[in-house]
Amino acid sequence: MSAPMARPFDSPPLLRSTLLSLLRLVLRLRASPLKTPTSLLVIVPHPDDECLGCGGLIARTRAAGGRVRLLFLTEGENATGTPDASLGKVRCKEAAQAAARLGVPDNDLHWLGLPDSRLDKLSAAQAESFRTTLLALLESDSTDLVAVSSVLDGSSEHIAAAQLSWASLQAMPNAPALLGYLVWTAWSPTLLWRLLFTRWPVCILGLDPETRTAKCEALACHQSQLRPGKLGATFVLPRGFAATLCARQEFFIKEGPLEVPSRQAKAGCTT
Ligand SMILES: [Zn+2]
Repeated sequence: MSAPMARPFDSPPLLRSTLLSLLRLVLRLRASPLKTPTSLLVIVPHPDDECLGCGGLIARTRAAGGRVRLLFLTEGENATGTPDASLGKVRCKEAAQAAARLGVPDNDLHWLGLPDSRLDKLSAAQAESFRTTLLALLESDSTDLVAVSSVLDGSSEHIAAAQLSWASLQAMPNAPALLGYLVWTAWSPTLLWRLLFTRWPVCILGLDPETRTAKCEALACHQSQLRPGKLGATFVLPRGFAATLCARQEFFIKEGPLEVPSRQAKAGCTT
């Protein structure tokens, strides 16, 4: 029986919603279906990106009996523009609640503690810490898919996470496939329009009602990002953002280096 669809979020403005629906329709025409992995590792720049970008893929993988591990790069402590350790702790707790709703146990959550808003300015030691942690996680389990915020996602933090991941996997023999999930691209008609005119291979995952409900309810756990904070609305996700990213499908991009779009690459959605 289908679970009832949760609708806890504000609707986006009609014009944005209409434009995004049209662009998603066009993107579907060139997307290949994504096969559910058996062991998925998700690299998360900030708590909430895992739900926004690939909550459906996480829930689907767990429901199919697969393993999912989440590697959080930061605690999102700088969401207000001023580092706030207590906010970081709140966001960690929200992320653990969200992961539980998606079916991911606490012992598959990993926290790197890198500085929020400085992922594109990491020291050599911090970058090495990321690389060694990622490789250790991959070596400890036969991961067949790594997902990270896409290099086309329009955020310097998300781009940095993608570039670090891509560089680390490039140096690894028999590395698993790397797909980029969409956060800001799924919200911005401009970024989604730009994606339509690249030749980067695109994968699509349609979300059944149960999976979509799990994603939306997990996203609702990130309350610090969904309600006005003590300092006002400066760090709150835009109105309608969460509802928009709870769409009926998730798109993923076959990742490569930012400078050289993988024009000849196969979609890689079924490997
Ligand atoms: Zn983020």
